[in-house]
Amino acid sequence: MGRDLTRRMLLRGTAAGLVVGGGLLRSTGSAAAASFYNPFSGYQITGTWQDHLNSGSLGGIDFGMNVGTQLPAAGGGTIRNIPENGTGGHTVTIYHDNGYRTQYMHLSQFLLADGAVIGMGGIVGLSGGERGAPGSGSSTGPHLHWHMIDPNGTRINPLDYVGGGGGGLPKTTTEQDGVPGTVFWQRAQNWLRIESGYQGPIDGVPGTNTYAALQRNLRDHWGYTGPIDGDPGTYTWAAAQRLAAAHGYTGPIDGAMGPNSWRGFARFLNQDRWD
Ligand SMILES: [Zn+2]
Repeated sequence: MGRDLTRRMLLRGTAAGLVVGGGLLRSTGSAAAASFYNPFSGYQITGTWQDHLNSGSLGGIDFGMNVGTQLPAAGGGTIRNIPENGTGGHTVTIYHDNGYRTQYMHLSQFLLADGAVIGMGGIVGLSGGERGAPGSGSSTGPHLHWHMIDPNGTRINPLDYVGGGGGGLPKTTTEQDGVPGTVFWQRAQNWLRIESGYQGPIDGVPGTNTYAALQRNLRDHWGYTGPIDGDPGTYTWAAAQRLAAAHGYTGPIDGAMGPNSWRGFARFLNQDRWD
């Protein structure tokens, strides 16, 4: 049962239309899927790009966060760790396929080996920045420093790069068309990362890890009592319908997701807090 539902859903996802062009995966059936996003839109900016320039830095954005905060990749790529990188301290670089690089600085801990390949949203390290701590470099208090580097080697503002609206994920059109596509599942993965410990990529392609995190969330909040096995069946989807019912879905709680169930689910996912 679970497998049938999964396959049906994947077919619906395919029906929404995925085309690969220019190296970017885009969904034609809903808003364009993000290849990059701002994983830190929920954190306060404690140092702007201009603040950095004013203090003689080449630029960056500082986000206030507690030491040990998980740092998701702004985009997929290959990892290189630079321990004690001068004033930047422990620095992780993500080499993206399009020639751009992302750098996170002042880390307290690296989590991946050099050469590891990671998807957008995968956790690359833990934040740091406490004054005098190993890896903090010149940082005087807990925060993350983020900048990007373009293919010419010029440091650029990541918030300009990821685009308007703070650079979060786009809204899903599933709220209108009732068909869950790539953006719907990217937003679901981001929600599950924030609430339920999902650590995989924000790639909009739900697999066992996404579904297991969904089941954990539905267990904690929506009355799901089945196994956390990453293989959603009737009881998983019935709990998802209860979530949808709290967001305008008025159909039966029967574990068979239809367009109206997905619309209610999408209304929940389209809240700004999951951008
Ligand atoms: Zn900084």
